[in-house]
Amino acid sequence: MISKEMNKNLSINGGIREAFNEARRQKALYGDENVYDLSIGNPSAPVPRKVTEVLKDFCGKKELDHQYMCESGYEEVREKIADHLNQKYNTGYGINNIIMTNGVAGGINIVLRALLNPGDEVIIFRPYYPAYKGFVENWQGKIVEVNPKEDFQPDFEDLEHKITIRTKVVIVNSPHNPTGVIYTKETAAKISEILKSKQKEYGHAICLLSDEPYRDLVYIEEELPWWPDFYRNTIVSYSFSKSLSLAGERIGYLTIPTEVEDSENVIKAVRLAMGRLGFVNAPALFQRIVGECIDEQVDLEYYAKNRQILYGTLKQCGYECIEPKGAFYIFVKAPDNNEERFLELARKRHLIFVGGSSFGYSGYVRLSFCCKYEVLQRATDALKHLADDCRLTAS
Ligand code: PLP
Repeated sequence: MISKEMNKNLSINGGIREAFNEARRQKALYGDENVYDLSIGNPSAPVPRKVTEVLKDFCGKKELDHQYMCESGYEEVREKIADHLNQKYNTGYGINNIIMTNGVAGGINIVLRALLNPGDEVIIFRPYYPAYKGFVENWQGKIVEVNPKEDFQPDFEDLEHKITIRTKVVIVNSPHNPTGVIYTKETAAKISEILKSKQKEYGHAICLLSDEPYRDLVYIEEELPWWPDFYRNTIVSYSFSKSLSLAGERIGYLTIPTEVEDSENVIKAVRLAMGRLGFVNAPALFQRIVGECIDEQVDLEYYAKNRQILYGTLKQCGYECIEPKGAFYIFVKAPDNNEERFLELARKRHLIFVGGSSFGYSGYVRLSFCCKYEVLQRATDALKHLADDCRLTAS
């Protein structure tokens, strides 16, 4: 019954799904508290109190309307988001520049649907969020991968080489999944310079699509670059999945500035894609909720504490990794570059990670610290034993 393409994809067992299944299997055998599932990026920080209060408030309203709406979403909510961004980034957005989406995943898909012709190339930076591949394939695009430098900032020379006349979209993600790296202002300036020069060379626009679900999860003082300040053909995809712990509610937004080339048609095409894909519009109730909670966010200390215990333990045990500046992941080098063996040894200690191969970067594993603090506390001994298994030298 199913299509050949889907059939092919069914047999590709994604590393994150595999890890999830392994955690379930082990929990059934050994008990929840004896398995340390650091695989999934499912936020566990409590939803801010105001979100719950506003939700209760709306649910109590008899006259609440549940009707279809314009694909872009409620005007009053988009206005609040535009005002928020105008204040924060000194943008001049109006409601037309904001489109409410079903999370970032929905946002990226409608942008790609609106922009890609079959065979158009989409650049992503290794290591990358695995779902990009499926999103691009959905619209017959072709993925082109760019390598990182040692510090996981992009390799600019490689980017320059990989851009061709078929390049339509470049996806950036900062704070970054799976490394926790933040792209610096210098990185943003350099990428923009390359894209501007390539646009000139090929005589057509290249869209920079900035995937930003972790924008508000930053543990350092450094200010994140706002990509539209650097490069005019930028579309930002934001989500409340992590910043308000609302991952299951599927709510986010796109910004399509008027400065984007042919912006009026891009906005129309993205809205059309929303309708034609059957999303119709982003979830109505949660549009209203985020509209009332624009200045809220989860308690950052919740993840900062997790980051501290996990990074501290890893370094103490001699694991090789860089300190994440944002998001909630640590990308750890597998001893002897042997990812499979490391994953296997970790599983024996009931530690569940995701292999770097899933992110297009083998020889590493991703540890997620968005779980409860107690899980990381309990995992400390297992991480120490695993270091002994791998004969790492404690610092
Ligand atoms: N992009 C990145 C880099 C992610 O890590 C995730 C989720 O983990 C998403 C997009 C999807 O986010 P959303 O829930 O907003 O669709």
